[in-house]
Amino acid sequence: MELKDIKGVGPKTLIGLNELGINSVNDLVRYYPYRYNIYKPINVTDIIDDSVVTVTGSVVSKPTFFRSSKIKSIIRFRFQTANSIINVVLFNQPYLSKLLTLNRTITLVGKYEVLKNTLVVNKVLMEPIYNTSIEPVYHTNSDVKRATLIKCINASLLLENIIKETLPDYINQKYEFLDTLSAIKCIHNPINTETYKKSLIKLKYEELFDFMFKINLLKFKNQIVDNFAVKNITKEMLDEVISLVPFTLTNDQLDTMNEIVEDFNNLKRMNRLVLGDVGSGKTIVAFLSMILNSKVGYQSAMLAPTEVLAIQHFENFKNTFKSLNMNVSLLTGSTSREEKNNILNGLKTGEIDILIGTHAILEDKVEFKNLGLVVTDEQHRFGVNQRNVLKNKGRFVDVMYMSATPIPRTYALTIYGDMDISLIKEKPAGRKEIVTKAYKFNQIDKVVSILEEELKNGHQAYVVAPLIDDEEETSELNDLKRIKSILEEYLSNKYKIDILHGKMKSVDKDKVINNFKDGKSNILLSTTVIEVGVDVKNATCIVIFNAERFGLATLHQLRGRVGRNELESKCLLLSDKETDRLKVMEESNDGFYISEQDLKLRGSGDLFGVRQHGDMVFKIANIFKDQKILLQCKKDSEEFINNNIETNFREYPHYKEVVEELLNSH
Ligand code: ADP
Ligand code: MG
Repeated sequence: MELKDIKGVGPKTLIGLNELGINSVNDLVRYYPYRYNIYKPINVTDIIDDSVVTVTGSVVSKPTFFRSSKIKSIIRFRFQTANSIINVVLFNQPYLSKLLTLNRTITLVGKYEVLKNTLVVNKVLMEPIYNTSIEPVYHTNSDVKRATLIKCINASLLLENIIKETLPDYINQKYEFLDTLSAIKCIHNPINTETYKKSLIKLKYEELFDFMFKINLLKFKNQIVDNFAVKNITKEMLDEVISLVPFTLTNDQLDTMNEIVEDFNNLKRMNRLVLGDVGSGKTIVAFLSMILNSKVGYQSAMLAPTEVLAIQHFENFKNTFKSLNMNVSLLTGSTSREEKNNILNGLKTGEIDILIGTHAILEDKVEFKNLGLVVTDEQHRFGVNQRNVLKNKGRFVDVMYMSATPIPRTYALTIYGDMDISLIKEKPAGRKEIVTKAYKFNQIDKVVSILEEELKNGHQAYVVAPLIDDEEETSELNDLKRIKSILEEYLSNKYKIDILHGKMKSVDKDKVINNFKDGKSNILLSTTVIEVGVDVKNATCIVIFNAERFGLATLHQLRGRVGRNELESKCLLLSDKETDRLKVMEESNDGFYISEQDLKLRGSGDLFGVRQHGDMVFKIANIFKDQKILLQCKKDSEEFINNNIETNFREYPHYKEVVEELLNSH
């Protein structure tokens, strides 16, 4: 049955329904109310203070109607309730004057003023209500009014076989779930609280089970690659590479390395996310993995989101592992043609062991002799497709993602549900909290003096501008130039300030960053290009101009540029606006906590720069509030898949269909 065949759906309604995202009868019946109005009629004599109430009664005086210039219209009448007569006032609803006829029984919702014995009405319901009544409220539009929508939904609910049970029977039995039809009916027309609660649980479970089923299936399929290579990494090999690291790895780093080695050594393809707060030391884990991968004869590639970061990784790798004499290359958009040709050749012949680069390494021309590991740094900056390109550049490619996007556990479970996750929570030993404080612009001299204190001690600082160039000049925002002149004035040109932004030529970027790394400049004045990954240990202070302009994720990442050694670091936020975000920054250094606050402040739409993808728009479930159900669904769907993958879900036509659709689209 199609939507247009439903009683009450004409051409105009059809367009309106489509606009609401309703394209099928199934969409229609699952177009749930977003809240309910609850009317609980009471006796006026029971009311002791001025509160919003619902009263049923009849109109007992002919309504009078006024218009005035100040208040558009007023209707007044007397109203007989169960045990007393009250006065009623209705503002600005002139169209009601025709409907409110003498003796008509209606229900009024409004604020009752006890002393005046008067009800100021918000809402008129044209029918009596004697018991508590619940009215569902839907999002509607001008083509589909509430009454039409309800009529169409109710008409569909009367049809046979419109709603199919999708969950396996044994699950419905195990949890004593309501059947789906009853549950859906109840959501649209709640009868009593108990049934309503049961309906809600059933529909949430159904939705989350479906979601987790897909995620788990992808995970399952991802791991099974026919005859995947085993990379025999021994304990000795691991110990040997770890011994080359100039510092002691934290326990979390060690655990992660062990998990990675296990992935290398089994028959499945590695699909691992290394999740760790900014500064927790993910890079070394990536480097060690690449070295191990080459020890057993494979090439590795590391993808970074910015050129600045790619260069840094390249230099860092070469310096740290000089003794290994490995052949490492850097490929970015600004690599010269000649050099690029050499690199392409070296990759094909297998001469190059490790390739580090930006998007440039995704190009078709980049072919490997035997790629065995792909590491994507700051993975949330890449789309799924980009990430998959590299995976397909070899036959036995293990995949690792690094992410500094700390997210609540449940959220990780969903967006990264098809990956294995290693958590690096522990910071390297001796790290101190970064002292964070917000200042107003008129306190700029204070801010600069704190900054100068750090510089005097031989440390370096970042200063972040919200804009490269404020072309309009009129705006309140501070661009690089303006900030530079402020700094020069206050610091009387005693310190070297270098500017860095994304639009500079890459040779210039290189120079600026290297100068800063080598301590040849004192202040790196930059846009948010330093947000990801830049690592200079001697920097102990970061000043962020117009901090109100940045989201929590960005602020936290920017702050993570300092606090990278045992010294105490400072983060100074400049803003004339007091925002909750700045308070959160002052309050905490913990990325996981901050991401939760971010969620609270912004809602679930957009979290820490990770936009929800289409699959994650839920109709009734809420992945943050319904964690318990979600976890149960994860477990149940895993079990369901394990028990039925062999028979290809023969006994479960709904899931057989889901599987086919899913695997065709991935
Ligand atoms: P992120 O996780 O943000 O990518 P990095 O990998 O850039 O962090 O590491 C931050 C800094 O900490 C780097 O300078 C790195 O060399 C250093 N580091 C990493 N692990 C340790 C450790 N176990 N002990 C001391 N320093 C470490
Ligand atoms: Mg990093």
